[in-house]
This record gives sequence, C-alpha cells and structure tokens, in this order.
Amino acid sequence: MYTRKIILGIFLMTSPILFSACRTGKQTSPATTNSKASADKPYLILISLDGFRWDYVNQYKPPFLSEFIRNGVQAESLIPAFPSKTFPNHYTIATGLYPENHGIIGNTFYDYQKEVVYKISNRAMVEDGSFYGGTPIWVLADKAKMVTASYFFVGSEAKIQGIKPTYTYTYDGNVKNEVRVAQALKWLTLPQKSRPHLITLYFSDMDDFGHRFGPDNEKEIKAALFELDKNLGELFQGVRDLKLPVNIMIVSDHGMSTVKTEHLIASESIQNESLYTLMDNGSLINVHPKDGISLDTVFTYLKKRENHFKVYRTENTPGFEYTPMSKNWGSLQVLPDIGYYFSSKQGIDSKIRNGIGEFGVHGYDPNFKDMHGIFYAQGPAFKQGYISPSVKNIHLYPLMCRILGLSIPKPIDGNLNELKDMLKSGK
Ligand code: AMP
Ligand code: ZN
Ligand code: ZN
Repeated sequence: MYTRKIILGIFLMTSPILFSACRTGKQTSPATTNSKASADKPYLILISLDGFRWDYVNQYKPPFLSEFIRNGVQAESLIPAFPSKTFPNHYTIATGLYPENHGIIGNTFYDYQKEVVYKISNRAMVEDGSFYGGTPIWVLADKAKMVTASYFFVGSEAKIQGIKPTYTYTYDGNVKNEVRVAQALKWLTLPQKSRPHLITLYFSDMDDFGHRFGPDNEKEIKAALFELDKNLGELFQGVRDLKLPVNIMIVSDHGMSTVKTEHLIASESIQNESLYTLMDNGSLINVHPKDGISLDTVFTYLKKRENHFKVYRTENTPGFEYTPMSKNWGSLQVLPDIGYYFSSKQGIDSKIRNGIGEFGVHGYDPNFKDMHGIFYAQGPAFKQGYISPSVKNIHLYPLMCRILGLSIPKPIDGNLNELKDMLKSGK
C-alpha cells in the first residue's frame, strides 16, 4: 500500500500537465491519444511537393505517380492564390483561406500591427503563432481530440491557437526524403490510440531544381522528378502493406516559369528611401509610402519609371480574386511583366558571374498557367480514374475536413461543393 502511494506520488509530481488536465477535466493539447470517435475515422496523408508544375507528370510520366493517378483522382491543375509563393499558398492549403484572410500574404511582408517585417528566413517569426490566422487542419483535428503528425508543413512549427501537431519537426531541408517517408510509415504503425489520423509531408526537390535549372531543363527536371517519384513509390507501397483506410492527397503550392538572367530587374533601380519602403517578393513588390508622402506622389513617381514592370493601386492589382483590404499589402503594387523578375543587384551579379543564363521563378498572377500546381488523390474516400477540371487550392481544406470527419469551420473561403464530385460518396 505504502509503495503504491509513493509510486502515485512520483507519478503526480512528474506529470503536472496530466494532473492539472485531470483536475480541470480538459484534454491537453496537442492530443496525445485519439478520442473514441477520432480513432474510428480514416487516415489522411497530405503531401506537398513544392513547385511541382501542373504538366510535369504528363510530360515525363514518372512511374509511381502515374500509377497513383490512374487509381485515384486528378485535377487538370491546382490554381494557387496570389501571390503564387510558398508560404502564402501552403498556409492557404492548410486553412482554406486566402492569404488576405490568414495573414501570411507573402514570403516577406510588413506587419503594421507588430511593426516588423515577416520573413521566412527568420526562425522566430516562422515559429510565432500570432502571425498565423485561421484554423489549420491539424489544429482543427486536435480540437476534435485527434492525433496529428507533421514531417514539415508551413505553419506546423508555430503554436497556432496554442496548438502544434502532436508529432512534429522543425524545418530542416537537409533531412533526406527517405527519412521523412520512413517516419510517416512508422507513425502509421503506432498503436491505434496514439496513431495520427492526419500526417503532413513536405518535399522541396521540384522547387529547388526548378529554381536552379528552370522548368524547361528537361534533363534536370526529369532526374529530380524520378528521384522524388521513387520516394513516393516507397510511401505508396508502405501504405498498401499496412492495410489501413489511408487517403493520400498530393498537392503543390505553385508551378514554375523560366526567366532569362538578362530579364532580371534590379530592385535597387526603383528604390527611393525618402518616398516609400518596398517589400520585395520578386514577382510582387508591396509599396508602403512613408508618413506624410501622398499616394499620388508615389504612384506618379513609379508609373513614370515603368519598364518591363507595371504599377497598380493595390485594389486594382490583377491576380487578386477579391479586393485586397489588409493594410499589410501596402497601397501600391509593382508587378514585373511575365518573363521578368525583380532581384537585388548582388543577386543579378552573382548569376552573371556564375554563367547562369536562365532559371526558374514563380509568384506571378495565377491566371498564368505556368503558375499552376498539382492535385492528385487516392484512397477509400476517392473515386478511381476520375479527372476534374482545374481547381483552386482554397477548396482543399473543406475536402480534408470531410475526409477526416471534422465539421468545416465558418467562415472560410473554400467550398466543398467545388471538389465533392471527387469523393466516392459524392458529398
Ligand atoms: P520560395 O520558393 O521562395 O517561395 O520558397 C521555397 C522555400 O521555402 C524552400 O526552398 C524551403 O527552403 C522554404 N521552406 C519551406 N518550408 C519551410 C518551413 N517550414 N520553414 C522555413 N522555410 C521553409
Ligand atoms: Zn513553393
Ligand atoms: Zn520556389
């Protein structure tokens, strides 16, 4: 009896979280065990292949992905939100919200409320949940007491509404794809109670190679694609062997387009420290007039200098599917013409020095088809051999909610009606 008391005492002392959770009757976050209802739900693996352009599979026919598509559903292309950049679009996929509504409006942007520049290279900001609006799918799942896991995804490293995925890693592009795949399969072999129902995976290979060699470099793109295809083949086989009801959704955040080095525009050429500040995303530059400087003055100044780029008032900028209202966009936008791109002088010089004649970029208006990504899916929830027209990435979130049996939160920008024909149930 005495020994039992000591053991109980040690247990309570070393488990303050569990103890307070029991006392308040609340489940702690992240969920470490599935509730009874969640344990009965299917599984979903969300795979992002950064920068995977809509036409790569047709052009190169990678064997494992091609077979995956034949047995599942495929959209003609996945249409990103503007700007077609990595962070805004991954977080749109995760939340079903346009960048305007989730807050990550660029890879770099000025935040008026916090008076700081958000940058994806700034670890503290990437991990600061207060930048991230909406309810990402893993947070929604957690609230339903469902275990979640992530081997990388934009937003997964931040505590959003106080919640991170149950199992998660800090982003490190050097982790081999094989390690990510093996971990995903390991998660699925955990006991049912602690087995995640949502797993996110992220692979940057096609973005890396697309930037470096340009999407028209057939040899390099094909080589990268076939390597990645092998990793995916391993995952598909591993999932088949498990004999669990696993759905797999493969998405990309945007496509890629070729730009010649001679078509790079030096961002410095439009700088004017006394009139405005620029937030440069290469394909979209947000212009923030300085205090006391009128919008008209800045507009006229930049408009006169248009040369392979155009200047718009933010509300008239092509590419947005809504009227942008957030102050964080700035009041004017500078957009390079397609085939042109902004870069620092230093960036341009380094390309010239290294004899790089062309390379790949993205971020342009999603109406430009080179910017379109992919959506392929397979599993018990999906029809087989179904092809849909191009779809917008805002609609993926309600589809994931439906597959995981989670109620779709309101308001969001996505609409399940746009994708439900892909589901076997049709609803
Ligand atoms: P970009 O092509 O500039 O839109 O951004 C792509 C880059 O984003 C990739 O090469 C990754 O290095 C980076 N990236 C992707 N996910 C993360 C993450 N979770 N944290 C930090 N950087 C990331
Ligand atoms: Zn990307
Ligand atoms: Zn990229």
